Amino acid sequence: MSRAQTEQLQQKGYFGQFGGSFVPPELQEALDYLEEQFNRFKDDEDFNNEFRYYLKEYVGRENPLTFARNLTEKLGGAKIYLKREDLNHMGAHKVNNVLGQILLAKRMGAKRVIAETGAGQHGVATAMGCAMFNMECVIYMGSEDTKRQALNVFRMEMLGAKVVPVSKGQGRLKEAVDEALNDLVANYKNTFYLLGSAVGPHPYPLMVKHFQSVISEESKRQILEKEGRLPDAVVAAVGGGSNAIGAFAHYIDEPSVRLIGVEPEKAATITEGVPAIIHGFKTLTLLDEQGNPRPTFSIAAGLDYPGVGPEHSYLKECGRAEYYTVTDDEVLDAFQLLCKTEGIIPALESSHALAYAFKLAPQMEKDQIIIVNLSGRGDKDVQHAYNLFQNRKQNN
Ligand SMILES: *Cc1c(COP(=O)(O)O)cnc(C)c1O
Repeated sequence: MSRAQTEQLQQKGYFGQFGGSFVPPELQEALDYLEEQFNRFKDDEDFNNEFRYYLKEYVGRENPLTFARNLTEKLGGAKIYLKREDLNHMGAHKVNNVLGQILLAKRMGAKRVIAETGAGQHGVATAMGCAMFNMECVIYMGSEDTKRQALNVFRMEMLGAKVVPVSKGQGRLKEAVDEALNDLVANYKNTFYLLGSAVGPHPYPLMVKHFQSVISEESKRQILEKEGRLPDAVVAAVGGGSNAIGAFAHYIDEPSVRLIGVEPEKAATITEGVPAIIHGFKTLTLLDEQGNPRPTFSIAAGLDYPGVGPEHSYLKECGRAEYYTVTDDEVLDAFQLLCKTEGIIPALESSHALAYAFKLAPQMEKDQIIIVNLSGRGDKDVQHAYNLFQNRKQNN
């Protein structure tokens, strides 16, 4: 297929056989309206100036591309650079997308923003954005999740959001998604559904990629300034796939750059998944023998999702990107090694990318370059990491 044909298909939300929009007609109407508005504003100079203004003044971009000197010496192979999304306001990449979508919501004249959240990180980021732009904010969250993540519920409430516990079914993320979609169908003329990753029906995967691609726009400029050449590999952790697609975006047309996504062993959506339609779009997903979504598990809450953004499924299928899994033990080792060598506490999600990069670097030459997308900081994970290290000690 020609490049022009591929691009035309992507405009309709298809990445090869993946993506699209498989939803009831009422919801399709809301998505068509969103697509029209996104296309209207994404190339609008005024809109983009406003987005850039807040990325700089509120998020603190551009963030550094740090050369990890100690780590590189210790591993004895390729040079490792860290793209510092951990230094953003709120401590992760999620803010890039939240900001972009809230600014779009504002242009569309929406008065209300709704979102769903599992572990609470996306809910907190959305509540932050709504506080900043004075929007009414409603966050749907499974009732089981509200109990497990009480502190994040408190954070959202402090930021002025209304958290609605959903007790239907198993009281988890899936039920929260259903409630949020019902709300959208009923209220889409004045309500914006803010999706947290590069998943969902068209136009969400394209829109989230658009706002997250600032990561690779910066890293490409930065590596060319520092090294005078492109990296040999870009490595990122994959949950729904938003930080990874943002970190890959400006390198997809640079065939010399390896694109590597890393998944948890027990949530290996791309590595072990099969094509299926979930949550209104086609992607690789983990199914059980009955064909239902298979439960996943990850020590990093942000990676615990049975599906993945459709563009990653496509990049895997056509061979442009590679995807690997790492074990929890490797992740904890990587977490500790980055703390000790560089004085940076990474998020457990980001530690998946680190774990793979640490295996890869020693196999590469000293003049080669790896960029690891450090998607978030680990302050939120310290208690959890403490428990994991205690367990490990007891089991050894
Ligand atoms: C949410 C989160 C992720 C996973 O989400 P993606 O959409 O796959 O990027 C990864 N890292 C951090 C720090 C997160 O908060």
